[in-house]
Order: sequence, then C-alpha cells, then structure tokens
Amino acid sequence: MTEIIDGKIVAENVVETVKRFTAELTGKHGVQPGLAVVIVGEDPASQVYVSSKSKKAKECGFLSVQHTLPAETSEADLLKLIGELNADKTIHGILVQLPLPDHIDSGKIIQAIAPEKDVDGFSFINVGKLGTGEVDSAFVPCTPAGSMLLIERVRGKDLSGLNAVVVGRSNIVGKPMANLLLAANCTVTIAHSRTKDLPALARTADILVAAVGRPEMIKGDWVKPGATVIDVGINRIPAPEKGDGKSRLVGDVDFAGASQAAGAITPVPGGVGPMTIAMLMANTLVSASRTAGVEPPA
Ligand code: NDP
Repeated sequence: MTEIIDGKIVAENVVETVKRFTAELTGKHGVQPGLAVVIVGEDPASQVYVSSKSKKAKECGFLSVQHTLPAETSEADLLKLIGELNADKTIHGILVQLPLPDHIDSGKIIQAIAPEKDVDGFSFINVGKLGTGEVDSAFVPCTPAGSMLLIERVRGKDLSGLNAVVVGRSNIVGKPMANLLLAANCTVTIAHSRTKDLPALARTADILVAAVGRPEMIKGDWVKPGATVIDVGINRIPAPEKGDGKSRLVGDVDFAGASQAAGAITPVPGGVGPMTIAMLMANTLVSASRTAGVEPPA
C-alpha cells in the first residue's frame, strides 16, 4: 500500500509545538518571538502568501508585523527598513517576500538581512553553514526543511546510504534540499535541465524530490518501486472538466502514475505546501529562543 504523506497533519503538529513553546518562552523568559514580513508591490499571489504568513504568526502567539510598501519603493528605502528591523530587539525573524520589483536588487536585499534574523535561510552565512554541514546553527530554507521533515516521518532520521535524487537546482529548493539529504548521509544526485536520461537516473532514487516547476513531468515509470516521492512543485493548469476558465493545482509529479510505484508520496495540494509556513514559524521560534539563550524544541 502506498502511503499518502499528509503534509497538513505534520504541519499542524509543528505549529502546535511552536504555539506551546512560544507560550513558555513568552511567559517564563519574557521573550515573545517577533516576525516581520515585508512586501513590496501588489502581486496578488505574494499578497496571499504574506497575509497567510502574518496570520499564522499571530496564531502562534508571535508579535506579527507586516510592512506593505508601494511598488515604486526605492532600493535605498527598502534597505533602510531592513536596517531598522535588524536593529529592532522585538523582531527575531525578517522575511522579504520575493519576487521584488525589477528596479530592486533582490540579492542585495537578502544579504542585508542580519543572518541571525534570516529565517528564510537565504543569506550567504546560512547557505554556507548548511553547505558545510553546520545544519544545527543554520536557518534552513523553509520548503526543503519541511520536505526533510516529511521524509523523516516516512524513513526515520537515519537515511544512511539511501540514494536521493533531487530534480531542480534552485537556491531556494533544489540545492538546500540536496545539502540536507547529504547531511543525513544519503548519496545525493542533483538533476537539472541539462541532465541526460533523467528517467533512468530517477529510477535509482530511494528518495526522489521533484522541484522543477513543470506540471506532472515526473512519470510513474520513473519511480523506483517503494521509493519515497516528495513533490515540491505547485503548478496551476487549466481544468476544463470543472467548467470554463477553471483551473486546478498539480505538482511536478504525475501523482496517479507515481503513486502506483512509490512506497510513500506527497500529494499536491496538501503535501509540501503546508510545511513551508509551518517551518517559517519554527525558524522564527528558534531565532527567538537563541536570543533568550533557551534550547528550542527539537
Ligand atoms: P526554479 O525555476 O528556480 O528551478 C527549477 C529547476 O528545475 C531548475 O534547476 C531547472 O534546471 C530544473 N528544470 C527545469 N526543467 C527541467 C527539465 N525538463 N528537466 C530537469 N530539470 C529541469 O524553481 P523553484 O526551485 O523555485 O521551484 C520549483 C517548484 O517548486 C515550482 O513548481 C514552485 O512553484 C514550487 N515551489 C513550491 C514551494 C512550496 O511551498 N511548496 C516553495 C517554492 C517553490 P536549470 O537549473 O538547468 O534551469
């Protein structure tokens, strides 16, 4: 029987732990975790992401601050705000919603965030820590961190010697995912658009992670029997069967085909997606705990 990995339940468990620990940190140690979310412009998808992050932060008992800036905000003004948030003792996590308008250099903004408040894990310090195996003191990007938790739920923490194939090499998902699997002693291969014979490579994977951004690209016969399949992709495709102009979400994996072969597989929606916000809350709590000198929950 193929296990359908329910990311909603795992994410809820993470959030419940965060809530409990936040109450203790605030009550006993006088440190309330603070998350600042910054959005520039009016991209509707980004607005939805940002408001759900702010809402979840409040639900966790955090101080939740949202800065909504007009699209024409200058890079200098955004840098000034980041500087103020870096210095603000009530803020433990800073997240700048991407993409930023074209006239702002995203790299410069990300690197301006103090590494100890970089709860997205995109700054050079945090990327470097993860790359050198210093996972415990790093902030790990939320989507791969959440994917890793799902893998551990299925496979346990000891992944020694398992073959992992990560399809996609973005800085946000593919590369940090590969580093996490490497730190967990997997034999890791990163595939990308220039990889030769991807189906054959995918079939070697005990753990197959798809982070491509191409709807249902990974087919059922690319999946090794019993493999754990983690589908990071979120793609909106037309769904004429639902009526004119309607759409539906699918992953990068052909779920119907892959679930015939996989031992365990994440659905889309309801797999990796809910984990991303949950891990953002967890990272913010870790940051606040470090400030208070308290051990965060494992
Ligand atoms: P990017 O577009 O940054 O990266 C996509 C990667 O896929 C690239 O490395 C690219 O290779 C590779 N790729 C593209 N086409 C092929 C192909 N035909 N064969 C093999 N590799 C290919 O995407 P992201 O990493 O940002 O996101 C990936 C997916 O995950 C998207 O669907 C996105 O929506 C989703 N996502 C979901 C999140 C969540 O919360 N669940 C969070 C973040 C992303 P190359 O480098 O050679 O171009």
